[in-house]
Amino acid sequence: MDEHMSGTDNGGGRQAVFDMDALTLSIEHAPGAVAEPGGLIARVTLAGVCGSDVHRIVGHVKDAVGRVSFGHEAVGVIEELGEGLTVDWGGVPVSVGDRIIWYAGSTPCGECRGCRTTGEACDDRQWPLPSSIPNAAGYRDTATLSRRVPFFRVDGPVTDEELAAFGCALPTAISGQRRLGLIEAGQTVVVQGAGPVGIAAAMVASISPARNIIVIGAPAHRLELARKFGATVTIDLEATSAEERLARIHELTDGRGADVVIEAAGVPEAFPEGVSLLARHGRYLLSGLYSGTREVSFDPVPITLKSARIIGNLGSRPEVGLQALRFVQANRERFPFAEIVTHRYPLERVGDALAAMQDGSAMKVVVEPAREAAAV
Ligand SMILES: [Zn+2]
Ligand SMILES: [Zn+2]
Repeated sequence: MDEHMSGTDNGGGRQAVFDMDALTLSIEHAPGAVAEPGGLIARVTLAGVCGSDVHRIVGHVKDAVGRVSFGHEAVGVIEELGEGLTVDWGGVPVSVGDRIIWYAGSTPCGECRGCRTTGEACDDRQWPLPSSIPNAAGYRDTATLSRRVPFFRVDGPVTDEELAAFGCALPTAISGQRRLGLIEAGQTVVVQGAGPVGIAAAMVASISPARNIIVIGAPAHRLELARKFGATVTIDLEATSAEERLARIHELTDGRGADVVIEAAGVPEAFPEGVSLLARHGRYLLSGLYSGTREVSFDPVPITLKSARIIGNLGSRPEVGLQALRFVQANRERFPFAEIVTHRYPLERVGDALAAMQDGSAMKVVVEPAREAAAV
């Protein structure tokens, strides 16, 4: 094994570099680093591919320029602790060798207006970061977490894949339902979309006294997964018309419609349909309409007539990362998390990993730099 491939070359190992101007991707040597006070260095064991990574590399999300690092869902092992760092963001003691999960895209400074008011929208978010400086991105051998990157120690038998299965879709679902408020006994929840965000939303909603958890999506294998993760009814998007879906939901709700609709489809056409599915006083949470330039026309009058609430959902407080970890640990017997991970790639095939996510053939894709390096 040559030193470069071992992942310990100068402490930096390899990293995926995305050129946001040329929209290209390459695997390069990463700069070596030492842990800053309050920060740490971790060996990445597994990094999840997020749908938003795909939106970025095709140029739909323009929040970065130049050469940057990606991968904001990562699991790894602490290799070095910076001065003064003794506990994780949940107050749990940490040592070298501990397994941790971190959210590199969330870097609250704790001092700006956003951090001090909402706690979830830092005005000085450090993401994505230039690849020329050590950073906490997941598509690399060795990650450098600044003191601002939330991380949590992982104990117990939970596997890396179970932790990565939903990635940031699980914090998104948990935050979304916090914004939504209580799902009351007997209510009907409709989820539009059967990707990771939609299935995570159905799963979290299923831990409520709801009457129905209805997932609309495609293809069939995703709907089958949705049923394993709490959906009581699934409706095949490709085999039904909007009128048929509305009729089915009225049939399941005594003609009332859905008390809660959660959009996790990511296509603008979902919006007018979602409004049509709402019951009076219904709540509509938008979680997947994240990027893109297409528009859709809709009639706003039903929003008024139904006294409906439309709620946007982006970002979450750092503690939601801990809630997501605890959710997986507490429910790993109840839900088959590992089944969500359908594709695994070594680091040098990050491009293929993103492509598998983009073409819809995969449910969840993970990159495993450590396993690959050990096999060389
Ligand atoms: Zn994400
Ligand atoms: Zn801040």
